[in-house]
Amino acid sequence: MQEVPSIRIRKTNDQPVNEKGEYVLYWMIAFRRTGWNFALQRAVEQARELNRPLLILEALRCDYPWASDRLHAFILQGMADNARRLASRPALYHPYVEPEKGAGKGLLLALAEPACLVVTDDFPAFFLPHMIKAAAGKLPVLLEAVDSNGLLPLRAAERDYPSAYAFRRFLQKELRGHLNELPGKDPLQGAGLPMLKQLPAAIARCWPAASPDLLAAKPEALAKLPLDHGVAVAPVTGGTLAARRQLTRFLDERLADYAEHRNEPEREVTSELSAHLHFGHLSVHEIFDRLSERENWSIGDLSPDAKGKREGWWGMSRPAEAFLDQLVTWRELGYNCCAFRTDYQHFASLPDWARQTLEEHESDPRPYLYTLEEFERSATHDPLWNAAQLQLVREGKMHNYLRMLWGKKILEWTRTPRAALEVMTELNNKYALDGRDPNSYSGIFWCLGRYDRPWGPERPIFGKIRYMSSENTARKFPLGRYLRRYTP
Ligand SMILES: Cc1cc2nc3c(=O)[nH]c(=O)nc-3n(C[C@H](O)[C@H](O)[C@H](O)COP(=O)(O)OP(=O)(O)OC[C@H]3O[C@@H](n4cnc5c(N)ncnc54)[C@H](O)[C@@H]3O)c2cc1C
Repeated sequence: MQEVPSIRIRKTNDQPVNEKGEYVLYWMIAFRRTGWNFALQRAVEQARELNRPLLILEALRCDYPWASDRLHAFILQGMADNARRLASRPALYHPYVEPEKGAGKGLLLALAEPACLVVTDDFPAFFLPHMIKAAAGKLPVLLEAVDSNGLLPLRAAERDYPSAYAFRRFLQKELRGHLNELPGKDPLQGAGLPMLKQLPAAIARCWPAASPDLLAAKPEALAKLPLDHGVAVAPVTGGTLAARRQLTRFLDERLADYAEHRNEPEREVTSELSAHLHFGHLSVHEIFDRLSERENWSIGDLSPDAKGKREGWWGMSRPAEAFLDQLVTWRELGYNCCAFRTDYQHFASLPDWARQTLEEHESDPRPYLYTLEEFERSATHDPLWNAAQLQLVREGKMHNYLRMLWGKKILEWTRTPRAALEVMTELNNKYALDGRDPNSYSGIFWCLGRYDRPWGPERPIFGKIRYMSSENTARKFPLGRYLRRYTP
């Protein structure tokens, strides 16, 4: 196994490694998986070097924004998977679920005090960057944050990119050098680490491991937690096992149609892996490895330069290239934005032309106006919009094409573009399993002009922002089945 590339490792504080410490602590907060994970791999490397046991803390707070039965259950299912897998590995795994607000306070510090150092996941969005920064200031030992977000290390870029085209051009120059740097499939297997038998008794008493009922996400156990119980558990299972099954299904049954039909909501040919990617249950490196094996692909198949073109750079089949353009170009474009802009979630982060045109049309009369609550319960005049929103509420997902339409109509039917941004953020992040991700913001902001260009003719409300309508969508794709299935 190669070493974790130094470009992926960030020292977050100036504290030393305590060479007399009892163990290395891996604080798993975003890459919630036991393989294909540079952060876990770095923790294993450090434990081997220091000849110390590895302790893995996977903690789940109950007070993160939009905490609900849906999000908790998905994460807990992943924790149960991790517990099963780690039972046969040389590491002590501590899954901690906060029973009430603030109960977990002090746990990280208590575990860090006897540690040599702490390694954690470097995720660029939501509350995680703030949490890492706060921890860095408090811990008595070195806190390393390791980037296992994408094929491209976040720090391989020097700035954020204004369009997918510009980012793709950059990727086509830069990525080649990183494609051979894969994280280990299972870094703990055969790691030969000494074992820590149990947590110090006082810590285990104060912050006990999650019960089997909680890890099974049983309704009675979820009901006791201070969560939004109005957002029900979604009909999709979290965890690496479920994610790998979904990946196999996608590669076997859907990929062949991806290039041709991925925009058609009723065809269901997309991977539906975004929630698994968001919670770190599945790594983009593992997906890439499985895909390139099927394609019989090697790095020598890369074209010397595709000049930012969507097809022809990877040297894979057309469907595989179309999929990689979403999985790598579009997905990592969003991560790039969050890594370089602390204002990624604010209206002010829109390109000048988009902000200006939206502001010029801010006082245009709206044909319909809805409140957040009306949007939330699918109470608009538009059956297709209502169906898409109902799917989001029921299942925690929405097809990409409908998501674009959904956002455009929220812009059209709210009093101001800033209010539209608030509605989109609230509904997306509350109900979508893949919400609260860098790509939540790139998707939402795309509806307002980010990564796009000015379009004519200039229209009321939208100005030069690209327009979409339910009528055109219905002309493009068959939607009868979808509408029947999701009519409120
Ligand atoms: C208003 C709006 C909100 C969105 N909110 C989110 C969100 O909260 N979380 C999220 O992950 N994506 C979001 N997207 C992007 C996109 O809709 C989803 O990533 C995609 O629908 C996920 O389905 P899939 O896994 O079947 O995608 P596939 O088509 O199978 O693509 C594979 C992977 O590529 C990435 N991807 C695909 N399309 C995009 C895209 N347009 N932009 C960025 N990455 C992409 C995802 O990680 C996805 O899992 C949003 C888009 C819009 C327009």
